[in-house]
Amino acid sequence: ETAKHTYVYDFAEGNKDLKDLLGGKGANLAEMTNLGLPVPPGFTITTEACQAYLATGEQPAGLAEQIDTHLAALEATRGKRLGDPADPLLVSVRSGAKFSMPGMMETVLNVGLNDESVAGLSAQAGGNDRFAWDSYRRLIQMFGKTVCEVPGEEFEHALDEAKRAKGTGNDLDLDADDLRALVGTYKKIFSKHTGREFPQDPREQLDLAIRAVFDSWNADRAVLYRRQERIPADLGTAVNVVAMVFGNLGSDSGTGVAFTRDPATGAQGIYGDYLANAQGEDVVAGIRNTVPLQELERIDKRSYDELLRIMATLEGHYRDLCDIEFTIERGKLWMLQTRVGKRTAAAAFIIAAQLVDEGIIDLDEALHRVTGAQLAQLMFPRFDLGGAPEVLAKGVGASPGAAVGKAVFDSQRAVELAKQGEPVILVRRETNPDDLPGMIAAQGILTSRGGKTSHAAVVARGMGKTCVCGADSLEVDVRGGQFTVGGHTVREGDMISVDGTTGCVYRDKVQVQPSAVVRYFEGDVTPETTEDPLVAAVHRIMSHADAARRLRVRTNADTGPDAARARRFGAEGIGLCRTEHMFLGDRRELVERLILARTDEERQAALAALLPLQRADFVEIFREMDGLPVTVRLIDPPLHEFLPPLEELAVNVAVAQARGEDAAKDEALLAAVRRMHEQNPMLGLRGVRLGLVIPGLFAMQVRAIAEAAAERARDGGDPRPEIMVPLVGAVQELETVRAEAEKIIAEVRREQSVEILIGTMIEVPRAALTAGQIAEAAQFFSFGTNDLTQMGWGFSRDDVEGAFFWRYLELGIFGISPFESIDREGVGRLVRIAVDEGRAARPGLKVGVCGEHGGDPESVHFFHEVGLDYVSCSPFRVPVARLEAGRAAV
Ligand code: PEP
Ligand code: MG
Repeated sequence: ETAKHTYVYDFAEGNKDLKDLLGGKGANLAEMTNLGLPVPPGFTITTEACQAYLATGEQPAGLAEQIDTHLAALEATRGKRLGDPADPLLVSVRSGAKFSMPGMMETVLNVGLNDESVAGLSAQAGGNDRFAWDSYRRLIQMFGKTVCEVPGEEFEHALDEAKRAKGTGNDLDLDADDLRALVGTYKKIFSKHTGREFPQDPREQLDLAIRAVFDSWNADRAVLYRRQERIPADLGTAVNVVAMVFGNLGSDSGTGVAFTRDPATGAQGIYGDYLANAQGEDVVAGIRNTVPLQELERIDKRSYDELLRIMATLEGHYRDLCDIEFTIERGKLWMLQTRVGKRTAAAAFIIAAQLVDEGIIDLDEALHRVTGAQLAQLMFPRFDLGGAPEVLAKGVGASPGAAVGKAVFDSQRAVELAKQGEPVILVRRETNPDDLPGMIAAQGILTSRGGKTSHAAVVARGMGKTCVCGADSLEVDVRGGQFTVGGHTVREGDMISVDGTTGCVYRDKVQVQPSAVVRYFEGDVTPETTEDPLVAAVHRIMSHADAARRLRVRTNADTGPDAARARRFGAEGIGLCRTEHMFLGDRRELVERLILARTDEERQAALAALLPLQRADFVEIFREMDGLPVTVRLIDPPLHEFLPPLEELAVNVAVAQARGEDAAKDEALLAAVRRMHEQNPMLGLRGVRLGLVIPGLFAMQVRAIAEAAAERARDGGDPRPEIMVPLVGAVQELETVRAEAEKIIAEVRREQSVEILIGTMIEVPRAALTAGQIAEAAQFFSFGTNDLTQMGWGFSRDDVEGAFFWRYLELGIFGISPFESIDREGVGRLVRIAVDEGRAARPGLKVGVCGEHGGDPESVHFFHEVGLDYVSCSPFRVPVARLEAGRAAV
């Protein structure tokens, strides 16, 4: 006989660490059982059984017998048989995957009831007919809805009808006869939709319910949820079969939920709800009003005290906030579920710090209890909900933030109003690439369709713009310039407020509150000057992250104020100062003159005009970053960004000529624009190529850097400049630039000796693949993962995200844009190769990253793993990178 595969585990055989196999619910039921807590007996069918079933469409060999064996054991423990007409054992069937998933079938209660055993159940309950028929109608309702996909409203409607006929709004007023009649109605609804009678065989009920749990793994909603939450598709779900205990046996019975701490604020205390004479789903369904858990003390003090004892046990055992479902059956408390509870971002920090104070966890573990994404959430401004603003609708919080503005229904109008200085919220059914200008102009975006991967969501997140999507209760009438919801009409120009974190849409303008966490990072509040427990908790955990991390964190900044802010946020230098940003605005003219220069003199004159401006920029930045490294990247603009658009210029010239005006300057410009026009500017004359082609340009920049450093040093400062060459693909490019730069630095150095490193970006795949050679000429590397991703995937970084990434996300080709989070296997492999070969050629080579990925939590872990020295990111993301670098290190 071949070795038998174990597909079924008794609760006593599992533990909390077996979530992969038993699912979260099953593992925790097992854990509680083994802690000696009052858990009704039962067993768990494993996720492996589910995977085998889903692969073949058949229950795997041996599963049926194993269920038989465990069911027999359960019957023996309870002293009853499943569905026995005289004294039935009833069970609940509950799904439970490794991660809790709202898209899946959840629970069927009272399995084992039928036309005969309903009488046995009544007898068991001391002749309580009402209870027995109520339990039976619940079975048909839940079984119909979740196992056989009968529309749930039909049952609810029939229940409402029965109450109306009785002249009551309370289901407790329905007596046994009413409920017996309702069972009849339910059965008709069932057979109308399924084409068969409600199954009377208890074992068939059980098997169908188990199959339905398996199948629900692949229900549309579950598939969608997994994709959005990036849960692997092949995990499968476990199934828990649990002996029923009854909360609907009378006023000495009931059901409730509890948290060991407030999941919103982290405060310790008794949080939860209780509902007497009810079964589990009544609490959630809001059929009757629950009472606060504290009231249970009055209703049933013994159970209450026991519950508190158990809550303390669970917190001590799980060392974290737990949430709990329980039932009281005639004064006897039963635990139906527990898990480490979900919480808000603020509560995550506060609870972690509290647990450290209480000596339950150490600071390393506290770091693992929070995430950079939670910290980022806490850094957005929030609405002040003190005045209880009116909620118009709720959609998916797709891109966080708090945006207030006038509702506008088309992109062009949004642009017009924004130009007049009006804040606007762009409201659409869904967005498409044509809406881009309006999305840019708007404070926030609101759609009535689509989820977290819709066009609106993807683009808004990319822009860091507040977005709520899929608010499906909105009737958006784009033509009519209005939307209606629940009897309200919001017209173009009416103020609305949208919360991209919670998904709430409010009428009118809601006050916005600055983030306490940002005020802390800014130094406006400290743990000493505020009572806010969040500030104290963030301070505590950030300090530990800083102490623990190996990665340094720098910032991308190209102005003094940005540098200063980043420094307050904890930046340890500048990893990328993009000098082309210094050539915009008023200076554009000078750059135009440089590009258009026909003679050496003209070019020299243009450069000479730029030099003092550049020098002043660097002096300011070196001052703000005194004592810290500042990596200045030599200019890297796609040329077209500096020249006027071809068509516009052509029109101007034509108009001027027609009017007989002097258009000589524009004509020269037009000729140059034509000459330099590129089909693919991103792959054209930019970066080091520009430096090699336009004589004197890089030299001017190098001189400005060296002179600025010398000036700072003369004034007693401690400048630490690093010169970085962009877009290098071959070592020869770097060598050429470096030779010229060193000459200039040596000249300046005669006056003042400041050490200046010269290094390169690695952002062309060829550079990564020849990193060994390039390292011979480079004193440091910095990965430009934006271009490395662009050129690694061949995705135009300016075009693809809005154009078609939503489709790639929908298809699961990737779970997140590779421009947002590093593609470990592809682009990440290029990074790994370059680090290894670069360091092999030049031991101790300093290596960092300055692409957008430097501030992305997932990517920070990757950069830690491959051994970079630092990450560099925008000022606002510096705290997130510090935290994640700490988390990666412990
Ligand atoms: C990069 O390519 O990752 C980079 C930092 O340079 P830029 O974004 O300026 O092209
Ligand atoms: Mg680049």
